[in-house]
Amino acid sequence: MEEKKDKTVEKTSTRRDFLKKAAVTTAGAAAAVSTIGAPAVHAKKTYTWRMVTTWPPHFPVFGEAADKLAEWVDVMSQGRLKIQVYGGGELVPPLQAFDAVSQGMVEMGHGASYYWAGKSPATQFFAQVPFGMNAQQMTAWIYGGGGLKVWEELYAKFNLVPFPVGNSGVQMGGWFNKEINSINDYKGLKMRIPGLGGKVIAKAGGSAVLSAGGEIYTNLERGVIDATEWVGPYHDYLMGFHKVAKYYYYPGWHEPGLNLEMFVNKSKFDALPKDLQEIIRAAAYRSHWFEFAEFESKNVEYLNKLVNEENVKLKAFPDQVLKDLKKLSGEVLQEVVESDADSRKVWDSYSAFRKKVSQWSEVTEQAYAKTFDM
Ligand code: CA
Repeated sequence: MEEKKDKTVEKTSTRRDFLKKAAVTTAGAAAAVSTIGAPAVHAKKTYTWRMVTTWPPHFPVFGEAADKLAEWVDVMSQGRLKIQVYGGGELVPPLQAFDAVSQGMVEMGHGASYYWAGKSPATQFFAQVPFGMNAQQMTAWIYGGGGLKVWEELYAKFNLVPFPVGNSGVQMGGWFNKEINSINDYKGLKMRIPGLGGKVIAKAGGSAVLSAGGEIYTNLERGVIDATEWVGPYHDYLMGFHKVAKYYYYPGWHEPGLNLEMFVNKSKFDALPKDLQEIIRAAAYRSHWFEFAEFESKNVEYLNKLVNEENVKLKAFPDQVLKDLKKLSGEVLQEVVESDADSRKVWDSYSAFRKKVSQWSEVTEQAYAKTFDM
C-alpha cells in the first residue's frame, strides 16, 4: 500500500511539473508572439560587402551567377546585406581573388578552386579531377557525402568558408587543328589547358600553356598554341574558336564536372547574424542549380549552331586515346596525393565516395544510358 501511494504522489508531482513547464512554454510563446508584433525599437544592422570574381564582368553563366546571387541575397535579406560584384581585374587581378578574401581586403570571392593549386594542391579536387566524378556525383559528394566538410576544413586554414555555386557538367575536349588519332599526337602539342589536365598533357609529351581567357583566340590564330580547351559549346561559340580551329573534340575527360565556388572571409561570415548566414547559404544552393541548368540547356543549342551553321568538324577522341590519357591521369593524381598531406586527406574522401557512387551508377545512370539507343 505504502509503495503504491508513493507512486501516485510521484505521478501527481510529475504531472504537476509537466503542467508547470507547459504553462511556462505557453507564456514564452505568447511573449515571443508579442515581440514579433511589436514595432522594432532598433533598426537591424545593414552590411555592404564586396565580391571579387575571377571572371570578366557579367561573363555568361559564371559572372551572371555572381550578379544573380547578389540580387537574391539583397531581396531575401530585405536590403540588409548588399553585395557589390566586381569582374576580374576591376578591384584585384582575377587570380588574386583568393588572397584578397583570405586577408579580409574584401568579404567574398567567386571562381574555381583549381586556380588556387599554388596555395594548396588539395584545392584542385573541389573543382575537377580528370576522369573523375561528373556533375551529379560531385554535387552528391559535396552536399551529401562529406565533401563540404573536408573543403571547409581546408579553406578554414586560409580563413575562408567555401560554397559550391554551380557545375559546368561534362565540358568539351577542345579545339585542334590536327586530328588526334593516337596518344603520340600529343607529342610536341602546345595546348591551353588548366589544372591537373594540363599535367596529363605534359606527361603525354605535350606542353600545357596557361593563357587568360582574353588571349586564347589570338594565341591560337597566331600559332602560339596549337590547341585549346575552354568550357562547352555556349562559351566556345562566343569566343569564336571555330574561326581558327578545325576540329572540335569530345568528351572533356579533363573536366567532367567542373564545380564552381564562392568563398567568404570566415571571420566576417562568423560575425554575421545567423539569418544572413543562412540567406547566403540558400543563395549559393540556388546558384548551383541555376548554373548547371544554364550549361545543360544552352550547350546543346550552341553545339547545333556550331555544327549546322559554322560547319565545325565534331570528333570523338578514339577509345585508345582516352584509355591512355586515363592511365596518365592516374599517375598524375598519385603524384599529387603522395606529395601533399591535405591532398591525401581530400582524395581519401573523394575516392571513397566515388567508389560508392559508381556502384550505384552501374544500376542507374549507366544501365539507363544503354536504353538511349534502343
Ligand atoms: Ca575548361
